[in-house]
Amino acid sequence: MNPTLSFLASLALALSSAFAAPKPNVVVIFCDDLGYGDLGCYGSPVIRTPNLDRMAAEGLRFTDFYSAAEVCTPSRAALLTGRYPIRSGMCGNRRVLFPNSKGGLPASEVTIAEALKGAGYATAHVGKWHLGIHEGSRPLDQGFEHSFGLPYSNDMDARADLPKGSVDSPTPPHDGWNVALHRDGKVVEQPADQTTLTQRYTEEVVKFIGEKKGGPFFIYLAHTFPHVPMFASPAFKGKSRAGIYGDAVEELDWSVGEVLAALKKNGIAENTLVFFTSDNGPWLIMGDQGGSAGLLREGKGSTWEGGMRVPGIAWMPGRIKPGVTSELAHMMDLFPTALALAGTPLPKDVTLDGTDLAPLLFESKPLPARPFFYYRSDQLFACRVGEWKAHFQTQSGWSQPKAEPHDPPLLFHLGRDAAEKRNVAAQHPDVLARITEAVTAHKAGVVPGSPQLR
Ligand code: MG
Repeated sequence: MNPTLSFLASLALALSSAFAAPKPNVVVIFCDDLGYGDLGCYGSPVIRTPNLDRMAAEGLRFTDFYSAAEVCTPSRAALLTGRYPIRSGMCGNRRVLFPNSKGGLPASEVTIAEALKGAGYATAHVGKWHLGIHEGSRPLDQGFEHSFGLPYSNDMDARADLPKGSVDSPTPPHDGWNVALHRDGKVVEQPADQTTLTQRYTEEVVKFIGEKKGGPFFIYLAHTFPHVPMFASPAFKGKSRAGIYGDAVEELDWSVGEVLAALKKNGIAENTLVFFTSDNGPWLIMGDQGGSAGLLREGKGSTWEGGMRVPGIAWMPGRIKPGVTSELAHMMDLFPTALALAGTPLPKDVTLDGTDLAPLLFESKPLPARPFFYYRSDQLFACRVGEWKAHFQTQSGWSQPKAEPHDPPLLFHLGRDAAEKRNVAAQHPDVLARITEAVTAHKAGVVPGSPQLR
C-alpha cells in the first residue's frame, strides 16, 4: 500500500475506534420479596405500577424468569456470581446470613462487578447487600467502587424492647431496628431512617448515572423493599389500595421511573441494559405485609413456583424488541449476558450456570433448552425440563417444619397447570425418567463450596 493510502487507512481506523459506541452500561434493579403477582404488568389488580408497566411495554417481559434460590442471601450470591449458591457455599442450615454469621461471599468468587470493573466499568452497589460483613465479602471487596446501603435485611438487628407484633404492624415504629446505613463500608446513619430509603437509593443512582454518563458503568440497585418491616415515604404512605405493602411497591415503581428517566435525560438509554427482578417470591406468612405470587403456588422460602418464579423485565430501547417471552431464563444468566455486552471473556476455571441472553434479547432467538434446578438451602428439591417440573421433596416456605420426600416424585405440567395442582406422575414415567437423568448429571458436576451460612 502506498504511504498516503496507508496513512488514510490508519486514520480511518483511529477515527472509527474513537467514535465507536462505548461499551453498553448495565443496571440491575433487584427487589426484595416482590411476588410474581405484585405488578400491574404481571396481573396485580390493586398495586399501580405505571413505570414498570411502561418498561415492560417498551422492553421484554419474561413469564418464566427464576430466582436461583427461595431466600435472600443465596439468591444474591447466585445473581452476582452466575452460579448456583451450592457452588459458592452461600446456602445452608441458617438459610441466610445473620449479623452474627461468620461467613460471607468468598473473596475467591468472581462477581459481575469484578469482571466488569476489569473491563473498564465504573461499578456501584446501592441498597441491601446481605452477602457478608467481614473482610473479603463486603461490597468494596467484591468489585464495587461505590457502595451505599444496608449490610443486611431491614428486620435484622431489631431493638430489644421492640413491642411484640411490631414487625407486621401496618405502621411499624421508624426506629425499631438498629440496622445502619453505610457508605463505602462506613456507618453514616444508625438506625437507618427506613421511611426514606427508597428515595435516597434512587437519588444515589440518578446522581451516579449523571456523573458516569460517559460510561461504561454497572449499577446494582438492590432495594430494601418490599421486605418486612414495610415503610414508605410520606408521598406514598397510605396511597395504595393494597395497604403499606402496596405503598412500598408503588414507591419502587416510582424509583424505576426515575432511573429510566435519568438514562433518557443523559442520552444513554439506548446503550444501557436495565434488568428488573426480585430475589425470591412473596413472604406470605406476613399477611398484609406479604405480597402475592398471583396464580403460582406458595411463596418465599419454598421451591413451589411462587417461591422462585419472579418478575423479570429487560429494557434497552431501540435494541430490545418489545414483547413478552415464555423462554425459561434465570438470574444466573445475567452474569454471562453482562460480560458478553462488555465484550469481555468469561472467567477461566469457573463453573457458570447461566447462558448469554443476548440472542433472545436482541434477535428474538430461542435460548438453548436446559434444565432448571430448584434448591432449598443446600438440597435439590425440584427440577424443570421444558414445561415439566418434578418435585423430589416439598416443604412450605415457613410453616412446615420438615421436608416431605416424594418417591416417585410429583410431576406437574407448568403450561397446563401453572398452579401445580394436578400431579400427573403416574401418567408420565418417561418424563420423570428424563428429569431424573438431568438431576443425576447436574449433581455429578456440583462441587459444594465451603458452607458460609454458619
Ligand atoms: Mg428476600
